[in-house]
Formats: sequence, structure tokens, C-alpha cells
Amino acid sequence: MEESCLFCKFATGEIVPAVVHETERVLAFKDVNPQAPTHVLVIPKRHIATLNDLGPDDAALVGELFLVAKQVAAVGGIAGSGYRIAVNCGAGAGQSVFHVHLHLLGGRRLAWPPG
Ligand code: AMP
Ligand code: ZN
Repeated sequence: MEESCLFCKFATGEIVPAVVHETERVLAFKDVNPQAPTHVLVIPKRHIATLNDLGPDDAALVGELFLVAKQVAAVGGIAGSGYRIAVNCGAGAGQSVFHVHLHLLGGRRLAWPPG
């Protein structure tokens, strides 16, 4: 738990986001500023600032993040139409909350490459 981290507060329940799925180690909730009809963030409950801070022991946790995202996509009805999972790593890539999160985006046509 990082005192000043918003997503840690979500993970502990100090602040309650719009949760769509939860496991022992992972939380998925709606992005407050959605960029697509489906825009869900999937986070580890443990504080990890960026992808650069992951270690070999986090392999299963990272796998679980993707499996939760896949399940949220299926339940949300966008598994067939297509969706994108994106992770911004570092300010230069647009990361604004320094607690690892997968963006799950779908429900509309998504352009490539992203901006
Ligand atoms: P990033 O820019 O990749 O770090 O993504 C951070 C995401 O967190 C953005 O898409 C924000 O809209 C989202 N966000 C910021 N504050 C909140 C909040 N209070 N509840 C839900 N999502 C948030
Ligand atoms: Zn955190």
C-alpha cells in the first residue's frame, strides 16, 4: 500500500470505484473518463508502480490480470467484436497513475496505431 496512491485506495476499499470484477489479487473497475463504450481498468491489488517494476515472481499475477481482462470482455459482450488491452509505462507513454493497470477498451472501432 502506497499512501498517496489512488489505486491502492481502491484496492483496500478506502475509496470504492465502480467494480466490475474482483479476485483475491486483482480488481477491475470502470474508468472514470471512458475512451470507449467499454473502458475498464484491471489492477493488481498490490502496489506496483510501472511495468518496469515487475519481477520474475510476478509472472502469475500478470497472467491473472490478462485472464480477468479477458473475462470482463466476455461478460461485457465485446469478446467477438474485438477489444484492446493497453498498458502505458512511464509519463512519456501517457501513464498518469503510477500503479500498474491494464486498460480494456472496446465497444467501438479502434484505430491503429494509437496516438
Ligand atoms: P494512465 O494514463 O494509463 O495512467 O491511465 C490512468 C487512468 O485512470 C485514466 O484513464 C483515468 O481516466 C483513470 N482514472 C483516474 N482517476 C480515476 C478514478 N477516480 N476512477 C477511475 N478511473 C480513474
Ligand atoms: Zn498503488
